[in-house]
Amino acid sequence: MLQVADAHLHSNPIRGFGAKVIAEKFKQAGGWFMALVSLSPTAYNLEPPSLESYIKAIDLHILECRRARESKIKVMCISGFHPADVDKLIDYYGLKPLEVLNLAYRVIDEIASRVKKGLLDGIGEVGRQHYKTSSVRILVSEYILEKAIALSRDLNIPVHMHLEQEGEATVHLVDIVASRLGAYKHKLLFHHADPKVIVEASKRGYPSSIAGIPKLIEYAITNLNAIFMFESDYLDDPKRPGVVAYPWVMAENIIRIAREHLELEEKLYKINVDNIIKLYGIE
Ligand SMILES: [Zn+2]
Ligand SMILES: [Zn+2]
Repeated sequence: MLQVADAHLHSNPIRGFGAKVIAEKFKQAGGWFMALVSLSPTAYNLEPPSLESYIKAIDLHILECRRARESKIKVMCISGFHPADVDKLIDYYGLKPLEVLNLAYRVIDEIASRVKKGLLDGIGEVGRQHYKTSSVRILVSEYILEKAIALSRDLNIPVHMHLEQEGEATVHLVDIVASRLGAYKHKLLFHHADPKVIVEASKRGYPSSIAGIPKLIEYAITNLNAIFMFESDYLDDPKRPGVVAYPWVMAENIIRIAREHLELEEKLYKINVDNIIKLYGIE
């Protein structure tokens, strides 16, 4: 039977189910793999979001990955500096743009040192705001993304990129940086990508993942080649239940389609297994 991968999700042991419960439910529903991505310190009630809070959040996330692995599913452990944090730190915590940039650089350095120790497997989320914000904040976010891409090249690790969804422009603007830095393109994931971004990314050799909500699952399987992965982008926040999707519900929906459409077996295997193996370099 088809085994399902979740290419990007979060867990919150302070406010939500936590990784152990999520991994068990997901495995029961037919999951074999998850890329677990850390949340911002404030999501774990770590206030204010200083360097110390980020380090605590990263180490708490590493424990979450360990708990998820107890369910005997394959877990890739990812930590980053979300572009929305740039705005949050300026608007709510009074930091100046350059203070945010320096903080983010130090956070990314902490992540890199944990990658070298084998505690983390990649960087994410980093990227650009998907909503309107000021130019200086977008530029700060872009430089954080560039640092992550440079580290991806140096350490040969994946990066989950959170970006605006502007089709060819979004992909080309990343491609300029990745080409200049000599990055491994197959390691740079366009996360939460829409179909246009997925197609443009694939043309240039980049992987992408699409939100695993019923409407998009059906659309992607029907209209796209096996050039993407599915992600639940689950937030594990009881105040936002089921946002974006429950990983186990996503798995059930994909498996139901596999059962009803045996002709899609090979395509669904590529999406849920081959594409994951290629991005992470795992067996
Ligand atoms: Zn995101
Ligand atoms: Zn996410």
